[in-house]
Amino acid sequence: MEDVVQADLAPLVRLADGTVKQVNPFSGTQVWTVPGRADRPIAQPVADPQPLRAEDHGRWCAFCERRYLETTPERSRVVRVGEHWDTVAGLTADRVFDSVADFRLIPNLFEIVTYNYWVDNHGYRPTDAARARLAAYRSSRAGREHLLRLKAIKLAATGLSDKEIAAIPESERLDRSISFFAGSHDVVVARRHFVDGAPDTSGLASAGTLTPDEHEQYLRLMVASMRGLYEANPHAAYVQAFQNWLRPAGASFDHLHKQLVAIDELGQGMVQQLSRLDADPGLFQRWGPGYAAEEGLVIARTPSAVAYAGVGHRFPSVEVWCTGFGRPWELGATQLRDLSDLVHAMHAATGPDVPCNEEWHHQPPGVSQPIPTRAVIKWRVSTPAGFEGGTKIYVNTIDPWTIRERTVRRLRELQREGRVAPGVSIAR
Ligand SMILES: [Zn+2]
Repeated sequence: MEDVVQADLAPLVRLADGTVKQVNPFSGTQVWTVPGRADRPIAQPVADPQPLRAEDHGRWCAFCERRYLETTPERSRVVRVGEHWDTVAGLTADRVFDSVADFRLIPNLFEIVTYNYWVDNHGYRPTDAARARLAAYRSSRAGREHLLRLKAIKLAATGLSDKEIAAIPESERLDRSISFFAGSHDVVVARRHFVDGAPDTSGLASAGTLTPDEHEQYLRLMVASMRGLYEANPHAAYVQAFQNWLRPAGASFDHLHKQLVAIDELGQGMVQQLSRLDADPGLFQRWGPGYAAEEGLVIARTPSAVAYAGVGHRFPSVEVWCTGFGRPWELGATQLRDLSDLVHAMHAATGPDVPCNEEWHHQPPGVSQPIPTRAVIKWRVSTPAGFEGGTKIYVNTIDPWTIRERTVRRLRELQREGRVAPGVSIAR
């Protein structure tokens, strides 16, 4: 046990042969980086790209802009109007094609934690607003047809035949569509599937290909969703926000989106952080951005946020921290923009061909200890195997200093091309 204790005191140790041993100061995750494996290319370009035809535009997948009715009834959308951004909430099925959404907030059709989970285990009751939205939505023919179509997909997934579904009275199927308005798993979908003018399917539009202004709206809608889920569901202890980019990172669509899932526990990750925080109230000040600066891991800064190469992650990771405290929806507009600019810059520097997860950490409403809002972007460039499963020591192919160098180098190129926000200051 003595070694573990020593490792806890020094999250980052480079041994004589070049091996880097890391222990995550917040989760305790143990990672070794073995020398000689860092220079492998990490991008996984789209294999066998297909040419895009004019008729593919807006129709490539169910998240694309001409297929709005294949997703659940939209909670809200953000639309650029000239120089500003409008938020439109609760469009009905008849109105959903009236504008093209730059970002949409929709419930997940196949939730990780279902509406029925909350009802059956917690006695969850939909809010009056959710009931009113269902009533408005089903009052039009297009709305009823949309709900019945979605409900049929859901019922078929439980094993019911078309005949069995048709045997359920239509009014009952519509009543049960309340799950589309009162669920606790949201999706934030960006407009583009491919970058403007992409000649073929290799031109996927990733978070880093958004403009900094667009990315800010994307992040704001994520924060609005997080707040909305906590407000609508009093049994939600934590809302996990995340983005899976590309299939190796767990994405079922290669159309840019984020997800937010409410759960009725804090989850092991948060529980561990809280117990470490109880033992050491200065945990985040000591081992967060300050430690990264001491170790030479800082990649870039904005006035109220910092990005650095993370220590002790199963996959090579960059972290973006808000340097102040506050729950995401308590942050000021400038703080959110600062955070967004860095998250955007990290994705731009990572590149659209690298599968990655973006995982958010924040202080939930029921926790009084301040926890910094931050995102961890993990490059999914290796697959943990039996060694990791047995030892719980993860072999990571790129050490934090190399992650930093690689990211800083690319960021400088992007800055010269004007592709990162002007407020981003890259570390020397
Ligand atoms: Zn799409």
